[in-house]
Amino acid sequence: MSILERILKTVVLDEATITEKVALSKTAFKIRLQSNSIKKISFIPGAFLRLGIGIGKEELPMKDKIRSYSIWNIDGTKGYLDLAIATHSKGIGSQWAKDCKEGDTVYYKFKKGNFIADDAADSYLMIGDLSSLSHLYMINRALGAEKQVASIIYNTPKEEFFPDIDGRYPFEIKELLQNSNEEISAKIKDIAPTLKGKKMVYIAGDSRVCIAAHSFFKNELGWEPKQIKTKPFWNPDKKGLE
Ligand SMILES: Cc1cc2nc3c(=O)[nH]c(=O)nc-3n(C[C@H](O)[C@H](O)[C@H](O)COP(=O)(O)OP(=O)(O)OC[C@H]3O[C@@H](n4cnc5c(N)ncnc54)[C@H](O)[C@@H]3O)c2cc1C
Repeated sequence: MSILERILKTVVLDEATITEKVALSKTAFKIRLQSNSIKKISFIPGAFLRLGIGIGKEELPMKDKIRSYSIWNIDGTKGYLDLAIATHSKGIGSQWAKDCKEGDTVYYKFKKGNFIADDAADSYLMIGDLSSLSHLYMINRALGAEKQVASIIYNTPKEEFFPDIDGRYPFEIKELLQNSNEEISAKIKDIAPTLKGKKMVYIAGDSRVCIAAHSFFKNELGWEPKQIKTKPFWNPDKKGLE
């Protein structure tokens, strides 16, 4: 293990144990992490972890040591949190999610980020793919039942989706191929006029969809920047993103 990795492991990152691993669908896993350090997290809905999944694996380049995963569910009193990881990518994150097992130790850093719940609007539109589903579920729960929430959540096949932690499917699921920007823009056009009061959109997942949808809201619909929350989770030309 390199000196940098040793420092990361012992000084920078916190430690947790995998206490539960469940297949949510054919291509997604729920992974529960347990640790006393999780009890100290000052959680904000929309926060995520940087997981040092490649630490200690000499053969991996530095860019493959860390991957980011959103906190889907957290119980600070009991000291656990849940992640939901999609495995379409076939990179080290996907491989780790498939291979990891209960009892394994993981190293993580809590990150608040800025793609977090903002209750300033009356109505919301959620746009994302399988990789961003748990993040959007968390934001949706945090906003509360009194907000109007519409959604364009897409994946092929539909069966790969999983319900939220309470077993419910609060979002409309569309069977669309990756990067279906025309279909998504058409759907946005249909939904936008139905949103009431102050409006906000959360766009996450595939960077190509994030860019196209962001530009559609800004340029075609004339929305203000503060109404458009965008967070690319992955990019077809890159490995990892954060
Ligand atoms: C703030 C943040 C939060 C995130 N939260 C989550 C989360 O909760 N759950 C989750 O599953 N992911 C999440 N991601 C994405 C995650 O960090 C990894 O990018 C993803 O798991 C791919 O990692 P990998 O090592 O398997 O593939 P990489 O080595 O990063 O990529 C390998 C190849 O797969 C492609 N690829 C990457 N992701 C996908 C995908 N979803 N579908 C198709 N192709 C893909 C890449 O473009 C690349 O060509 C998040 C990202 C960010 C920035």
